[in-house]
Amino acid sequence: MTSQPSNTRPEPATQSYFVGQLAEYAKRPEVAAPATLDTLVEKLDYLSEDQVDAVRRAHEYATRAHEGQWRRTGHPYITHPTAVAQILAEMRMDHQTLMAALLHDVIEDSDTSKTALGRRFGKAVAEIVDGLSKLTKIFDSRAEAQAENFQKMALAMAKDIRVIMVKMADRLHNMRTIGVMSDAQRKRIARETLDFYAPIANRLGIHTIKTELEELGFKALHPLRAYRIEKAVEGARGHRKELIKEIGDTVTAALNREGINAQVVSREKHPYSIYRKMKAQQKTFNDIMDVFGFRIIVERVEDCYRTLGVVHNLYKPVAGRFKDYIAIPKANGYQSLHTSLFGMHGVPIEVQIRTKQMEAVAENGIAGHWLYKAGGDDFEPSQRRARRWAQDLLELQRQAGNPLEFIESLKLDLFPDEVYVFTPQGDILELPRGACPVDFAYFVHTDIGNRCVACRVDRNLAPLSLQLQSGQSVEIITSDDARPNPDWLTFVVTSRARSAIRLALKQQQGAESVALGRKLLNRALGNANMSINDLDFRRLRRVFNELGVRKLNDLLAAIGNGDLMAYVAAQKLLAVDNPDYEAVPVEGGGPVAIRGGEGLVINYGRCCGPVPGDQIVGHMTPGKGFVVHIETCPNINEIRRRAAREIIPARWTTTTDGEFLTTLRVDVNRRKGILAEIASEVTAADAGVDNIHVEERNAEVSTMVIGLTVKNRSHLARVMRRLRNVQAVISLARPSN
Ligand code: MN
Repeated sequence: MTSQPSNTRPEPATQSYFVGQLAEYAKRPEVAAPATLDTLVEKLDYLSEDQVDAVRRAHEYATRAHEGQWRRTGHPYITHPTAVAQILAEMRMDHQTLMAALLHDVIEDSDTSKTALGRRFGKAVAEIVDGLSKLTKIFDSRAEAQAENFQKMALAMAKDIRVIMVKMADRLHNMRTIGVMSDAQRKRIARETLDFYAPIANRLGIHTIKTELEELGFKALHPLRAYRIEKAVEGARGHRKELIKEIGDTVTAALNREGINAQVVSREKHPYSIYRKMKAQQKTFNDIMDVFGFRIIVERVEDCYRTLGVVHNLYKPVAGRFKDYIAIPKANGYQSLHTSLFGMHGVPIEVQIRTKQMEAVAENGIAGHWLYKAGGDDFEPSQRRARRWAQDLLELQRQAGNPLEFIESLKLDLFPDEVYVFTPQGDILELPRGACPVDFAYFVHTDIGNRCVACRVDRNLAPLSLQLQSGQSVEIITSDDARPNPDWLTFVVTSRARSAIRLALKQQQGAESVALGRKLLNRALGNANMSINDLDFRRLRRVFNELGVRKLNDLLAAIGNGDLMAYVAAQKLLAVDNPDYEAVPVEGGGPVAIRGGEGLVINYGRCCGPVPGDQIVGHMTPGKGFVVHIETCPNINEIRRRAAREIIPARWTTTTDGEFLTTLRVDVNRRKGILAEIASEVTAADAGVDNIHVEERNAEVSTMVIGLTVKNRSHLARVMRRLRNVQAVISLARPSN
């Protein structure tokens, strides 16, 4: 072997053999070109005739657009989009998704425009195709270091989850045929698949695609290691077989004795997951193969819990390893019971227990909801939440019109509180939802924030108060003699920005603060068509006292240097003449702007969880805007002691509606299944379970702290009534009472 001035080690000779095999596999017709229009249409029995026709038209159009183009596998290009569409048809995705899959490369590869596609196939299809090319551009330009943020960003910016579904199927087919790419391309694409695509599939709960992407990626990146592990798995299979059969038969027999109809399957481990465990947990191949995995699939939810009882009777459970994802599903909708057991001769066994529908969701994630349509009204209450989610998705499929709103809420489920934006250098910054360019500027550096005068978002000038969206690029324009503006305090959401602005303002001259305060107060009063000159100052003494200032100039200076919010001062001043202004009106379910209060954001105290009907007050909190609390909330009492003037009366408007997060503390007698029972009572009262924490008091009593969403106070009362009727419940209360 000659030494080469290169930093990559030469591949061992056998490597080229495996690479040759990958290439051969890629060229097989059943891999490269597994679908034709006919085989695709055969799978579309779940669509209407019109929808199937639309799919045909898209195929015809794509065939013409890709005329004369070939893939490296040696097949006409159209075989690729057809294969992608067929993968999605097997997941029973809707006709628009299939059409977009067929058309996914026509914008890139021919001179078809988005508008032309829209005219011919409808706006929804054109949007999906367009979303795909945007996503592709971002995928093609990313550094490896930010994998985690990048995955979240890709998801957060796709307006329509169907874009991601097509992208996943596209990558899956490309990975099946990766063997024909050059060495460098193969490695780059494989690494990208393992870093980005497989984790996204996992996040969405599409287990089948995730597993195949991982196995293909592993083989393409490390052909030798993949081969060795595969051989070792084959070797181990022989002596495992008997033990697997023995365990499987014993479990099946025990379930039959109890009259439970169940399917017991042994879970084979995949080479990549073995490899990853060996690496991450420093385990040997045998350590990993010594654990036996089983999945038990039953008919109904109650069978899941009965099955759990049966296996726990059969083998001793490992303490602390039981997880109930049925009562509390994962964010991606996954539901199952997990437990670990010591089997015969001490063999460790991992068991998953779930219903057929849960299995469909676990295998196909979001698509599983489309896949499993069987129904009826008699499904179990603890499944309602997942079911409601599924129904929303079905609904979305029906009204092909504007699914964005639902997709938004789905994204909120997956990623609650962040947006991801690019710096001019191409780095990704994570900011809280609602963040604006000023937050961004202070996030980069305090100096940038203090000297910021304007900004470009996606290369265009934009207001500094703009709410940033994931995927945007942000560039801050600074000037050396610029100063922070107190007005920024009304729209920044990060505490870093807020405290930096306050600090800078305090350092400014008094006269300047007064002038600035006058401007800001006039603007705030302007919402009520008033100005400072209209106020009767003899009558305002009381307010001055309350706000802790002696004269008007003090008040204006306090506003100008950021000590006092102009909005709050205006509210109090106006209330002297007009009781309408005594309390801040609170409307809407989520964080919303108060009518007339420019850019002021409303949030709800997590401590007490106020719901419409509660007596409420508010408090300006750095980074959160106007935070609403129950009047008796312990945190409010604390503020009352320190700084009573910061507490602002608030009231619900009559139109307030939405879902409000609140908390209940429930003391229960400890017994098996109580968690699921409580959760299902809550959902049966049409409330949502957000989270449950269980604290053990003693051998008999546990305290559950339940985060739940309700519409208002009487709805909450209904939930509480139901829970009081549960036999094991000893007492319950809201924490603020
Ligand atoms: Mn493609």
